[in-house]
Amino acid sequence: MDFVTEPKRRTPVAADVDVLVCGGGPAGYCAAIAAAEEGAGALLVERGSFLGGSATQALVLPLMTFHASPSEQIVRGVGQRLVEEVMRLGGGPGHVPDPLGCAATITPADPEALKQAVLGLTARSGARLLLQSSVVAPLLSGRRVCGAIVENKSGRQALRAKVVVDATGDADLAFRAKAPCVYGRESDALAQPMTLMFRMSGVDGAAVRAAIRENPDDFVLSPEARRDLDSLPILAVSGFFSLVRKAQAEGRLGDFRDRVLYFELPRAGEVIVNMTRVLRRSGVDAAQLTAASLEGYEQARQAEEFLRRDVPGFSRARLVELASQIGVRETRRIVGRATLGTDDVLEGRLPADGVARGAFPIDLHSPDGSGLTLKRMKPGASYSIPYGCLLPKNLEGLLVAGRAISASHEAAASARLSPTCMALGEAAGVAAALSCARKLPPSKLKVAELRRRLLERGAVV
Ligand SMILES: Cc1cc2nc3c(=O)[nH]c(=O)nc-3n(C[C@H](O)[C@H](O)[C@H](O)COP(=O)(O)OP(=O)(O)OC[C@H]3O[C@@H](n4cnc5c(N)ncnc54)[C@H](O)[C@@H]3O)c2cc1C
Repeated sequence: MDFVTEPKRRTPVAADVDVLVCGGGPAGYCAAIAAAEEGAGALLVERGSFLGGSATQALVLPLMTFHASPSEQIVRGVGQRLVEEVMRLGGGPGHVPDPLGCAATITPADPEALKQAVLGLTARSGARLLLQSSVVAPLLSGRRVCGAIVENKSGRQALRAKVVVDATGDADLAFRAKAPCVYGRESDALAQPMTLMFRMSGVDGAAVRAAIRENPDDFVLSPEARRDLDSLPILAVSGFFSLVRKAQAEGRLGDFRDRVLYFELPRAGEVIVNMTRVLRRSGVDAAQLTAASLEGYEQARQAEEFLRRDVPGFSRARLVELASQIGVRETRRIVGRATLGTDDVLEGRLPADGVARGAFPIDLHSPDGSGLTLKRMKPGASYSIPYGCLLPKNLEGLLVAGRAISASHEAAASARLSPTCMALGEAAGVAAALSCARKLPPSKLKVAELRRRLLERGAVV
């Protein structure tokens, strides 16, 4: 590769804060809100022009899951307050049973209501916000991260901080600070595929339900959802396998996906479709991301045509929104002081240093095919993520929250779901604020004190 040498430059310091949070997705906004509520001066930096992360940028909804069983809620705290705010704005019914039977509950949300709810909660917490600003480099003092450089319409700016939370989803800051990172699955470094989601309106839900009743074997549905098909608050469809196979055999639909998968949105007739699948592209390589987006648009065009032509209930439906960004399931994960293992998830381990819970099955979209594998825990089980999974091995001053925590490929396929990322963010935010208050680096905090504080705030550890 050819290189140029850039001239040395002096960069203005635009802020000096206690806690700098990079990335405004579920992990990032929960971290900033929690840090501010704990009394720290918090600044949240987001490269986009709204908050919410993949849920609002890539339309990857509903949120799932806040529950290990219908009677045991394992993600509360900021995440639960957000759900209540979405409900108050008329943007969702709260937690409802999962019609597909993957989890105890799912939490549908209108993406626009979710954007407003996140912004409202963030503003009320006192956290400051800097939008349309990309974090491009760490500020380092030896091996201690003490801020970040951002690029935005003002040019380059330095943001100093006592503690930094990397919630970029891709461990952008940790990676650039030379924290050890891994990418994809252990056997061949392939990551889960990307998906460009799209929203359609005008779907005739009654016609879809009639098709399910007529050909029940063509659908994955929980026994309860089959029984209560007409009274379900939200229907999810994973099926029409036979129609997909027929359209693929006739050459009208690429073989990127084996089924129709969509979730109804709270507004009648609206659905979010998860049918595209882009394999073998890296979410942290600009040229590959561009190619992946283009492939996603073409697959979405084919999928829309197929849905309207072949699928009952879709003949009058219209595509009303392509997600503003392709959804990236997996890229880098840090190598932390602890690592969440596949067995920790499957056996529902609750270690003494756990700071955030998860209960979604290991949800593996094949990195090299069109299938989907679910590895489940025992019914009602959940696992807790050790604090050390948020601490990069050879750095100080930095916490990593969200889908880039230290975990195996399979464990990450459960822990990456939004509610668990919210819980991880809240844990990181409280840890960052405690670290400032105690004048201790995050790695030297007493985990018992962090857990106590999280429980006092209403979180579950
Ligand atoms: C196709 C797909 C389907 C999914 N389906 C579901 C589902 O149905 N339910 C569910 O609960 N979860 C689902 N997920 C998983 C979930 O949405 C994500 O794993 C989760 O949002 C991760 O949260 P996060 O905060 O770690 O990262 P993200 O949500 O990715 O947020 C990261 C944020 O950081 C910002 N950012 C990134 N880099 C920088 C930078 N350098 N500088 C500044 N800002 C930056 C981004 O713009 C973004 O706002 C799905 C994911 C995908 C891709």
